[in-house]
Amino acid sequence: MALYSRNVHSIADAPRDGSTPCPCCGGRESVARLQLDGANSVVAVCTTCGTGRCDPMPGPDEIASFYPPAYYGAGGQKFTGPMERVVRLMTSRQARRLSADLRPLGDRLRVLDIGCGRGDLVGSFSALGFDAHGTEIAPPPDGEFPGTLHAVGDLAEAGFDEESFDLVVLWHVLEHLADPRGTIEEIHRILAPEGRLAIAVPNFSGWQARWAGPSWFHLDLPRHLFQFSRRGLETLLRSNGFDVEREDYFSLRQNPFGWVQSALNRINLLPRNGLYDLLQRGETRPGERLGWTRRLMLLSLAALLTPIAVGLSVVAGFAEQGGAMTMVARRGSSAAASRLE
Ligand SMILES: [Zn+2]
Repeated sequence: MALYSRNVHSIADAPRDGSTPCPCCGGRESVARLQLDGANSVVAVCTTCGTGRCDPMPGPDEIASFYPPAYYGAGGQKFTGPMERVVRLMTSRQARRLSADLRPLGDRLRVLDIGCGRGDLVGSFSALGFDAHGTEIAPPPDGEFPGTLHAVGDLAEAGFDEESFDLVVLWHVLEHLADPRGTIEEIHRILAPEGRLAIAVPNFSGWQARWAGPSWFHLDLPRHLFQFSRRGLETLLRSNGFDVEREDYFSLRQNPFGWVQSALNRINLLPRNGLYDLLQRGETRPGERLGWTRRLMLLSLAALLTPIAVGLSVVAGFAEQGGAMTMVARRGSSAAASRLE
């Protein structure tokens, strides 16, 4: 069975012995909270900052096995037609919003999208006149890329010069990486002074995550090696020499769908992440076609739940409790000034 359609269950908050320190705050105490069926690791939650992490951390080969080729989409498309167009429109709007912060820094700015996938965002930045780069461990096979592609899995492997970029984007990527602290340190090195880091991750401390518990859509175990809390991400950035300038807890792309799919995941009759499956074109679950009854159930429930989910997402956004969070941080002048001990 595909990994992401396996069930996740809660385990009693048992203290973990001898686990590695929290990469966000350095805290040494954590409790085991969630487990994916059949997985060796648990999600251990830091008792200081509330960030969750896979414990023990899977090795590189095991992590690679979490990403079947279909994960990246077939033929350059990850969703069905209308959904695809919506995603493209949102990506273009996102590039305009992120670059609006940067215009005072100059012309022909250099931007890097880490884990850029097939390069949608890189393309949007190129269209805006940026010198746009992307890194990707699984680059698109057809060779068409709307910018400069660096085919690496680990950022440090790309060997960028110091102060190479004006903007670095980590869009729903940091939670997939085994060494988030090392990645943020490397980004600080390659950013120009006054450069910005824009980072979006699911919000483990928000209302959606807390309401849904093991049913939370954005857990995406075991691919999400970390579940960042607001406090954890702020601490990670500040302790690496970044000033957090802006935080945003409303995402039309992540939050309403997260509510709907998490609610559906709480219904035992329905397959976990079944709606997400229906909307995806890629065959991530070969041989597991959904019957018509369950398809109809999923779609009609989703139609009923969507207006409620949009309303909840707006309220949660205002309350800074959204299912996803975005932070834009400015690179401070001294590297890792207040590095953790
Ligand atoms: Zn912590």
